[in-house]
Amino acid sequence: MQEPWSGLIDAHCHLCDEELLPQLDNEVAEALQIGSTGFISSALSKEEFEWIELTRLHTYHKYFRWSAGIHPYYDKSSENDFSALVKLSERKKIIALGEIGLDGRKYNTEWQKEILLKQLDLASSFDLPVIFHVVHNFYDLYKLLENNFPKVRGFLHGFNNSLDVAEHFSQFDLAFSLGCKPPKPEVVKFIIKHGFFLFETDAPYQKPKSEPSQINHLKNLDFVVEEISRISALSREKLIQMQKASFDKIFSISRNQDF
Ligand SMILES: [Zn+2]
Repeated sequence: MQEPWSGLIDAHCHLCDEELLPQLDNEVAEALQIGSTGFISSALSKEEFEWIELTRLHTYHKYFRWSAGIHPYYDKSSENDFSALVKLSERKKIIALGEIGLDGRKYNTEWQKEILLKQLDLASSFDLPVIFHVVHNFYDLYKLLENNFPKVRGFLHGFNNSLDVAEHFSQFDLAFSLGCKPPKPEVVKFIIKHGFFLFETDAPYQKPKSEPSQINHLKNLDFVVEEISRISALSREKLIQMQKASFDKIFSISRNQDF
């Protein structure tokens, strides 16, 4: 087992999701076996925020860090959780705000933009990176960032959009996080050449087509690395080294031991 946060990192997953929680020990143990050395888990409601404290008691807690946010689509997310989010930021319980963003599957665009801007303000006042969830509305987000937060830092989780969108967003200090459903090969190649990328499972969501069980597993980060290695023709070692450098550019985990 490697040192926590020393190599391959799962930049986005949901450790407190009811599908993962009952077998969390096993999930994490299997992921450590394939070389994962850290997990950034997302908490998206008051109920999920509570797990941030509880997992400090978990066997593998040194491998866990948390992001929290009000999600634009997730039903359990509510703007009433904003004050709890401020507290988590103040008390340094989270290393990023997210997942936050815009989701075109719902038509409450104005509300989404309002709550997003509020959270981007919060992130900037605590100098926290941001984890973006975006469905469809990439150009809206692009404009919103260009006009209001051109210096935003963080990453676009589960990126699988077009080359044009990737080119636009590569102007920001935002990494592309690649998951079990990566974008087209030409987009992957652009991202790898750009050099600012992370890997994620989003477990228990976004399982690869080849996964026989009902949910995605933390150990499937291995699938992501293999797939990107195949498309980019770069070795696994090289890719892990590059994602770690990207990770270090955004986060400073080692200086944040006692979270
Ligand atoms: Zn997610």
